[in-house]
Amino acid sequence: MTKLQDLVSLCKRRGIIFQNSDIYGGIAGFFDYGPIGAQMKMNLKNLWWKDMVKDRKNVVGIDGTIITHPKVWEASGHVKGFADVLSECDSCHKRFRVDQLKKGKKKECPECGGKLGKGKKFNILFETKVGVIEGEKTKTYLRGEACQTIYLNYQNVINSTRQKIPFGIAQIGKAFRNEVTPKNFLYRSREFEQWDLQFFVHPDDMTKWYEFWKQERFDWYKSLLNNKDNIRFREHDKDELVFYAKKAFDIEYKTEFADWVEWEGIHWRADYDLTQHSKFSGKKLNYRDPKTGETYVPWIVETSGGVDRTFMFLLLDAYTKEEVDGKTRTVLKIDPRLATYQVAVIPLAANKPKLIDYAQKVFDDLNKNFSVDWDDSSNIGKKYRRQDEIGTPYCVTIDFDTLKDDTVTLRERDSMKQERIPLKKLEKLLKEKLLKN
Ligand code: ATP
Repeated sequence: MTKLQDLVSLCKRRGIIFQNSDIYGGIAGFFDYGPIGAQMKMNLKNLWWKDMVKDRKNVVGIDGTIITHPKVWEASGHVKGFADVLSECDSCHKRFRVDQLKKGKKKECPECGGKLGKGKKFNILFETKVGVIEGEKTKTYLRGEACQTIYLNYQNVINSTRQKIPFGIAQIGKAFRNEVTPKNFLYRSREFEQWDLQFFVHPDDMTKWYEFWKQERFDWYKSLLNNKDNIRFREHDKDELVFYAKKAFDIEYKTEFADWVEWEGIHWRADYDLTQHSKFSGKKLNYRDPKTGETYVPWIVETSGGVDRTFMFLLLDAYTKEEVDGKTRTVLKIDPRLATYQVAVIPLAANKPKLIDYAQKVFDDLNKNFSVDWDDSSNIGKKYRRQDEIGTPYCVTIDFDTLKDDTVTLRERDSMKQERIPLKKLEKLLKEKLLKN
């Protein structure tokens, strides 16, 4: 089994991620987050929001809709251009994205070696209709990228906040793409979330802010990785650049399934998006500098990454198999800030009321300041194994000695070190340990 297959099976076993519509045989490119995964993903998004919005004076957040006026997607170029070019194999009739075929092998089917036909364009926007009366329904689209609602609200934000250029608008939200070849678990799905920042600047300051955000985003992702060598920049070649971009960089992650792949794009949008929306809506989207009176269309630095893709990369990075006393231990060495539970309270036996009462009190106290799991099932080894597999950084075990001397066992996920500590010191110690990370 590959590491990715191992991870997929762990995710199912431990309630992190499930294939959507499982009982009907599944539907390609759609995934549900289970009880452990939903919280972990929320922690991840909260961390992004804290670091990108809450802790910055010059960034504000919005939450836009999935369905917008259809003209948005004409202005953005998605109706015409949001297409993958596919070619079909003459022999096995499978279709492949031309941009993903290896250089020099674009005419040969990667599966059966047959001859690939001429490439055709397939638009990957999901269509939908708004309205209830047949014949009067308006065709529109599920958003193919989350950022468009930021451009639409750029003036509302300026008018309703005290933000002045340079400033940013951030958003986390769903995007939908009818991907031709959804694959590799969450890496390429059809419904996913993106986190975007659009940073509005004076054209003269574009290079400075581009470099600033490029580094900020890289450092942020790197800080979440155990294996720091698995992240890099890739600069786009000149022939990959859109006409308005002076440069473009991807932050990439090294995978086992496809080597280096895109994680987040750092885009030089210039004034393209606001100018397009101005053209299609007939509304001026200029900015007037309150100090100098200069009026101009702001330029934009965009950072656009995938939440689910990040989630999967961080799980791959955290997924570890170790030999312990001749047995294999699987452990998710995930950043404690992202773990669903920071600590698990484990009474040694489920059928001893005194032990359970004591443990319940420990649980209630810790639960005021930490996210805490409760596990009074099976034997202690199995309990630790479960907590290791869902990435819980600390376990607190209540045993019969606890009843005598008010000490508990604190076990660390990564080192498996166990120490006996007085209960009254537990909370302070946990705070110190968790803050250190
Ligand atoms: P790719 O080349 O991988 O298709 P893209 O260049 O089309 O990505 P963008 O449009 O720049 O991607 O989207 C920003 C980010 O959204 C990507 O860097 C990626 O993290 C995420 N993303 C894009 N498409 C998908 C998808 N189908 N499934 C999951 N995440 C995605």
